[in-house]
Amino acid sequence: MTAAHPAAGPAEPDGPTGLGGPAGPAAGLDAPAELGGVRAWLRRAGEPVHLELACAEHPDPAAGPAGRTVVRLTACAGSVAAHELVELLAAGATVTLRLDGCEAPEDVRAHLAGVHAVLTAAGVTGLRLEDAPPPRDGGRRLGRRRARPVLDAAHMPLSRRHLLGLGASTDPAPDPTGLTAHERLVAALHALGAGEAGAAEGGPAGPAAALATLPGPAPRLRARGCTACGVCLRACPTGALSMRDAGGLTTVLQDPAACDGCRRCVDLCPTSVLSAEGAWGWERVLAGDPAPVATVTTTTCARCGTLFPTSSGERLCPVCAFRRRNPFGSTFPVGQR
Ligand code: SF4
Ligand code: SF4
Repeated sequence: MTAAHPAAGPAEPDGPTGLGGPAGPAAGLDAPAELGGVRAWLRRAGEPVHLELACAEHPDPAAGPAGRTVVRLTACAGSVAAHELVELLAAGATVTLRLDGCEAPEDVRAHLAGVHAVLTAAGVTGLRLEDAPPPRDGGRRLGRRRARPVLDAAHMPLSRRHLLGLGASTDPAPDPTGLTAHERLVAALHALGAGEAGAAEGGPAGPAAALATLPGPAPRLRARGCTACGVCLRACPTGALSMRDAGGLTTVLQDPAACDGCRRCVDLCPTSVLSAEGAWGWERVLAGDPAPVATVTTTTCARCGTLFPTSSGERLCPVCAFRRRNPFGSTFPVGQR
């Protein structure tokens, strides 16, 4: 390989999934490796496939063991996003990412270490990183005469089975449009059954216990002194925060499955009471139940209808109370709208 490896530049281990997103384009290639066409091809194939993914600049992807479908990536192997690899597993493939000939295989391993740990903890096999040279066949290397066909990830062919209408999936393909990388990763892990098998009662710790020890991207949010103003909900780009009102109590909730850890909510909380206390483990991320961030006693303002926190039975929100005290005032004191 002659092109600089993207992971050989400044380290960027954490993408939006917290498990190694795209590491950036390789020199001379203008985008991270795209696997959408490979996913669609897998669904059309309708049968188990062992995919071998080779870097766009691999010198000889045709050499290697039989029984695999070799695909040349559109960019460096180190630029493949973790969620895209897991989506291939969820589509029924075994995936070998080929690192022999790579300038910095240890950086690619580091880039994918997080997702590898989650898959291992969840008991999901099928993702392999292979940096040894292609194995010999009968004591000699496979030569050009027996070279394997190499498919192009950007132009995957139509299979004969698909053209004959055999085997291909009839389910509508999951549409990732509008989903974040983190949401796609969580959906693919669910499709693989990750996080569903807990520890057997009285038995050894199962995948849930192993996943609980692995921190995910979502911080554990806490807000002591929350005023239920709702700014964090509006600031969250993924819709991971919500508010529930019941019986005079307002609860701010965080969905760890949707939260990608951007911390915009923490930065924008007007009273600076929102903070991150560690991170949710992957078991909680995959469980899908929202976690309480703050619970506030609230009431509805008798004048404007706004929900506001109260501890002593006030009937007016701070703004309406101020207006009542200052009917001709044109500005509000600091901290009030
Ligand atoms: S860190 Fe906060 S703003 Fe960012 S995704 Fe999570 S809940 Fe939303
Ligand atoms: S955590 Fe901060 S921004 Fe969110 S509702 Fe409470 S006070 Fe408002």
